[in-house]
Amino acid sequence: MLYELTEEQRMLQDMVRRLAREQIAPGAAERDRKGEFPWDMVEVFRENGLFGCDFKEEYGGSQMGVLAYCLAVEEVAKVCASSSVVLLVHELGSMPMLLAASDQQKKKWLPGLASGEHLIAFGLTEPGAGSDAAGIRTVAIKKGDKYIINGTKQFISHADVAQYVCVACKTDADLPPHKGGLSIIVVEKGTPGFAIGKKEDKMGIRASTTCELIFEDCEVPAENILGREGDGFAILMKTLDFTRPCVAAQALGIAQGALDYAVAYARERQQFGRAIIKNQGLAWMLADMDTAVEASRQLVYKTAAVFQEISKDLSKVPREAIRLSAMSKLMAAETAMKVTTDAVQVLGGYGYVKEYPVERMMRDAKITQIYEGTSQVQKMVIASCL
Ligand SMILES: Cc1cc2nc3c(=O)[nH]c(=O)nc-3n(C[C@H](O)[C@H](O)[C@H](O)COP(=O)(O)OP(=O)(O)OC[C@H]3O[C@@H](n4cnc5c(N)ncnc54)[C@H](O)[C@@H]3O)c2cc1C
Repeated sequence: MLYELTEEQRMLQDMVRRLAREQIAPGAAERDRKGEFPWDMVEVFRENGLFGCDFKEEYGGSQMGVLAYCLAVEEVAKVCASSSVVLLVHELGSMPMLLAASDQQKKKWLPGLASGEHLIAFGLTEPGAGSDAAGIRTVAIKKGDKYIINGTKQFISHADVAQYVCVACKTDADLPPHKGGLSIIVVEKGTPGFAIGKKEDKMGIRASTTCELIFEDCEVPAENILGREGDGFAILMKTLDFTRPCVAAQALGIAQGALDYAVAYARERQQFGRAIIKNQGLAWMLADMDTAVEASRQLVYKTAAVFQEISKDLSKVPREAIRLSAMSKLMAAETAMKVTTDAVQVLGGYGYVKEYPVERMMRDAKITQIYEGTSQVQKMVIASCL
C-alpha cells in the first residue's frame, strides 16, 4: 500500500527504482570498499533532475516537494546508502537557504543547487557541540561589510566537495544561541581562511565524505548571512524539522533493501531438506521485519506529506509537525538497525561476509540513529511536544 501518492510521485518512484536497479546497485559494494565520494552518482542524479525535486520552478527545480524527495532517497537507499547521502546532504545544506534566503540570494544560489551543478554542505556540529547545538563556539565578528569567522566544525558531510557550506556561527557572544546569539552564514569554497581538516574513516556510508572544517580569520561578505543576524537558531531548528523525514526515508530504504534480500535468500536457502523460510521461527522474524518497515513507511510518507503542506507557508512549523518529524526519524532509524541486524541473522554466516550486501546495510543503518539528532534527541523532541 502507498500513502496517498499522486500519479506524478509514483512516476518519480518508478523512475528512481529503475535507476537504482540499473545504475546505482551494481557499484554499491565497490563504493563501500573504496570510500571515495561518488561523483558518478552525482552525475546520475544531475541527469535525472533529482537534486531539484524540492526546489521551486522559478529556480530551476521541478517543485515536486519533500515527499517526492523522500521517495527518491528511499529508492536509492534500498541499494546504496552512501549514494542516498548525496541527496540527503543536498537537501540539508539547501534548506536554510530555502527557508531564510532573500530573493536576491535565492536568485544567486538556488539555480546552481537545483541543477546539482553545485553541491552544498551544512556545518553545525563542533568538537564540543553535538546534540547540544547551543554549545557551539565558532564565532563570526562583523567588521564593516565582512564577517570574520574563527572556529572548527566536526563531522561535516561533503564539505570537501561542496561549493557552499551553511555555517552556524555565534554572532553575539553575550546572547544565548536560542535568544539571538546565532546566525547562519554561507561560506563559499576557496574562501581564504577556510580549510578542510581531517577526513573521517567510517564504519558505514563510506563513500560519503565526512570532514573537519577549520576557519581562521575567514572573511566572508556580510551579505552572505541568511535572514537577520540572530535568526540562526530558529533557522537551524526549522531546517532539521524539514530534513529529518529525509533521513527517515533513507533509513526506510536501507531497511527495505535488507528485508527484500533476506526474504529472497530465505526462500532459496535449503537446510534440513527445506527452504529456511518454511521454519516458523524464521518466518515470524521476517514478518516482524516487514511489519516494522511498513509502519515506518506510513509514518515517513505521512510526515513528508505534512511538511509538503507546511512548505506553502514557511512562517511557522506547527508543534504537531515537529513531533511527527522526530517520530519518523526515530522509528525508521530504529527499524533500520533492527531489520538489517536481523537480515544478517537470516543469512547466517553468509550475512557476515562482504560478498553479500546485508553486512554493508547493517553498517550503513547505524548512522541513521546518530546524524541529524540521535535517537535520544528525537525522544527529547517528542517528549517536549507531549
Ligand atoms: C557520518 C556523519 C555525518 C555527519 N554529518 C553532519 C553534517 O553534515 N553536518 C553537521 O552539522 N553534523 C554532522 N554530523 C554530526 C552529527 O549530527 C552528530 O554526531 C550528532 O548530532 C551527535 O553529536 P555528537 O557526535 O557530538 O554526540 P554527543 O552529543 O556527544 O552524544 C553522545 C551520546 O550521548 C547521548 N546524549 C547526549 N545528550 C543527551 C541527553 N540530553 N539525553 C540523553 N542522551 C543524550 C547521545 O544521544 C549519544 O548517544 C555527522 C556525524 C557523522 C558521524
